Amino acid sequence: MKFENVKNIAIIGAGNMGHQIATLCAIHGFKTTCTDISEETLKKAEAFVEKYLPGRVEKGKLTEDQAKTARENLRFTSSLEDAVKNADFVIEAAVEVLDVKRKIFADLDKFAPAHAILATNSSYIVSSKIADATSRPEKVCNVHFFNPALVMKLVEVVQGEHVSDETADIAMAFCEKIDKVPVRLRKEVDGFLLNRIFRAIGREAQWILEMGVATHEDIDKACVYGAGHPMGPFRLNDLTGIDLSYTMGIEAFRATGDRSMLPIPSLVEHYIKGEYGQKTGKGWYDYNEK
Ligand code: NAD
Repeated sequence: MKFENVKNIAIIGAGNMGHQIATLCAIHGFKTTCTDISEETLKKAEAFVEKYLPGRVEKGKLTEDQAKTARENLRFTSSLEDAVKNADFVIEAAVEVLDVKRKIFADLDKFAPAHAILATNSSYIVSSKIADATSRPEKVCNVHFFNPALVMKLVEVVQGEHVSDETADIAMAFCEKIDKVPVRLRKEVDGFLLNRIFRAIGREAQWILEMGVATHEDIDKACVYGAGHPMGPFRLNDLTGIDLSYTMGIEAFRATGDRSMLPIPSLVEHYIKGEYGQKTGKGWYDYNEK
């Protein structure tokens, strides 16, 4: 397949990441179908789009016509089969659970056309752990967006050994077409590229907190006002989800045996209380406070 033949996109999962990636694809001219197992999430995603597109028109970022076309390009369905039946490029953004992803990819292999590329937006599961659930491993790769996907420019395309050059080339071209800045990882590595760097910063920040050296607010201030980061590691952690960090810490420990990868006790405490960050209204910061 050539990139020029990529017209129809399917996004699996309409949560935090999925609905934004779907909106992005629709804005950039792709016929996009977004699916989720949760009707409520699909409704929320659709409500978001109905508000977001007119908002972009008001801000002068899209013309009325562009917003109208984007809306027409995007549809939501609860049927995975319906979502992918005509897809040329699929991006899976469902929950970060290996068995769930493997099942989804086995279904994608069954229902998506044979030429379709099947990408995962996973934060840390390398596609080689999923590719063998399909009959087309050379077309299964990581295409890793950053949160919020409508805003963050970087996308990591990970070309594991099983991924063909054609697949990685098309994934890179696709990212450029939706106005992202893709980087190509030429081998699979735990944490990919930027998260490895952030993980080192985040881990250090968390241990500074754990040692009682400074509060999380002051550690965030140091990173913002001293290092010029747009937000500190704790604020960022609230945005990306403490639940995700928890799982990533456990998985990183499993993968490396390095105990320093384990989530720190205060993060585990938030996790146990269900305080996952912005999405639950409380994490390191309290979003219910005025
Ligand atoms: P989320 O929990 O907000 O959304 C996941 C959605 O997947 C939910 O709406 C759920 O109903 C749906 N889902 C579960 N099983 C499904 C299935 N079988 N078919 C279709 N939909 C299904 O999670 P998220 O934060 O959007 O993360 C999605 C993926 O993106 C994960 O793999 C995560 O690691 C990755 N990611 C997340 C971030 C982040 O900052 N949150 C950043 C980059 C990548």
